[in-house]
Amino acid sequence: MNGVANLSLAGASRVGEIAFIDLKAQQRRIRPRIEARLKAVLDHGRYIAGPEIEELEALLAEKTGAAAAVACASGTAALIIPLLSKGIGAGDAVFIPAFSYNATANAVLLTGAAPIFVDVDPLTFNMDPTDLRRRLDDVKRRGDLRPRAVIPVDLFGSPADYPAIARIAGPEGLFILADGAQGFGGELDGKSVGNLAPATATSFFPGKALGAYGDAGGILSQDLAEIEAWLSLRWHGTDAARKNSVRVGFNGRMDSFQAAVLLEKLAIFDDELAARRMLAGLYDRRLPAAARPQAHLHGAKSGYGYYSIRIPRRDAVAAFLKSHGVPTAIYYSTPLHKMPAFAAHAPATQLAATDALCDEILSLPMHPYLTPDQVDFICDKLGEALISA
Ligand SMILES: *Cc1c(COP(=O)(O)O)cnc(C)c1O
Repeated sequence: MNGVANLSLAGASRVGEIAFIDLKAQQRRIRPRIEARLKAVLDHGRYIAGPEIEELEALLAEKTGAAAAVACASGTAALIIPLLSKGIGAGDAVFIPAFSYNATANAVLLTGAAPIFVDVDPLTFNMDPTDLRRRLDDVKRRGDLRPRAVIPVDLFGSPADYPAIARIAGPEGLFILADGAQGFGGELDGKSVGNLAPATATSFFPGKALGAYGDAGGILSQDLAEIEAWLSLRWHGTDAARKNSVRVGFNGRMDSFQAAVLLEKLAIFDDELAARRMLAGLYDRRLPAAARPQAHLHGAKSGYGYYSIRIPRRDAVAAFLKSHGVPTAIYYSTPLHKMPAFAAHAPATQLAATDALCDEILSLPMHPYLTPDQVDFICDKLGEALISA
């Protein structure tokens, strides 16, 4: 017996401590480079609009194939800015999946528009285009709101069905804003998230696949038409000289320290993505049959911000895993249309797939520093949980 077992922490004895997301291991890998980047910001002193911002924007665009990137204060700011620049507000309908993080709904409501909740596909967990069609027709029939935009979400990193959504949105003149907050690194038909919709909002919240050391986000665009308006909106609505207010804006900027961190994390992102995909492949092969992993569209590759499954008796399974040192998370146990802040916008007709998913969804540990042994261990414990939980 070597000393490895003695070093291990609670529960997962033979594989060491399992983290749900391991930001410490990543930091150990690149800490000197991050420190050098942060020191550069301290030295030049341009804490806002430092050279790191434009460097990051150029790299983000290059990496995703987008025409341009605009660094923002958060994923939420990155969602709100494109909606505002389209003039979306009171009296407008914006279609969003009912199964998402609350920020998708908040962004719509903060513009004054009304969110129309759309059901999700039970296999991909992403917006169901058939239900989008149905709910769009409902809104048109009612005639009380103008359909203006649709916000598909790349849940857990898996790209939404943009081709099918575009076939519906195009003829109706709906603006497609991708909520790629969890989608960075995802691909569909050889194109990256960021280049799958006219505009894509992404988040660099620390726990996302590409995360800063604080709040940050970005907008990726397929063309340059709206860039000037976005730059103005993120800087209090001022003109390019930053003297006059030419529209109502807010402080939607990213700061230089966050860009500095992101530049070093972006440098290792492809390597980390390859590790995530390798580990996801291992999960796919080793999961017990009753655990059904998120399905991806034909031609899609997930960025695996999260690795999520549907599982019966979810809460008991999660408790069993926890007792064996396996952390999990539930995104999301409550659908948006049942949250107090959004319930007034709940549709009269059911969101059956979303409601069922909320009872079964479970996210397993996923980060590039997980080991194949740990994935094996987690799958073993999942199998035991299904028998004993
Ligand atoms: C994280 C997240 C957001 C919000 O991003 P912030 O950077 O926290 O503002 C929006 N939508 C989805 C789907 C998210 O997961």
